[in-house]
Amino acid sequence: MSACLLGRRVRFDGGAKRSDDALLAAWREEGRLVPFCPEVEGGLPVPRPPAEIEGGAGGAAVLDGEARVLTRDGRDVTDAFLAGARAALDAAVASGARVAILKEGSPSCGVLTVYDGAFRGRKVAGEGVTTALLERHGIRVFNEDRIADAARFLARRDGPEAG
Ligand code: SF4
Repeated sequence: MSACLLGRRVRFDGGAKRSDDALLAAWREEGRLVPFCPEVEGGLPVPRPPAEIEGGAGGAAVLDGEARVLTRDGRDVTDAFLAGARAALDAAVASGARVAILKEGSPSCGVLTVYDGAFRGRKVAGEGVTTALLERHGIRVFNEDRIADAARFLARRDGPEAG
């Protein structure tokens, strides 16, 4: 679960993007959420310069070495993004997570969209680096607008007998 969606102030600008979704609150109460910020776990500070995947590519291209993650001033932060994605995967596997709920639009956590790499506020279709790695390992990723879909996915997987 993207830590910023749970109110942790880990975003590049030092803020959070807390979600008030009722399902999240319930899951939190039940201790089912693992908060995680791949960029912080990858070694980047808070705050930090905004970063985008070059060329409007998605996270899969970064995993495959076909695109880099760059800050606005051109610093290559690809290694930190990859380290954060690997740490997120390790945390997901260790906790037995079957789904992840990640913050849309982020170069790490985006699910359907990322920024186009030109730092002009335009989004393109694509996923973040962590999303791409989790999906490659069979973890289903939903954004913060699809939490109900995540719940339905889990209910279908677990079947009627599971709690
Ligand atoms: Fe939130 Fe993900 Fe960005 Fe961390 S990397 S601040 S969890 S969107």
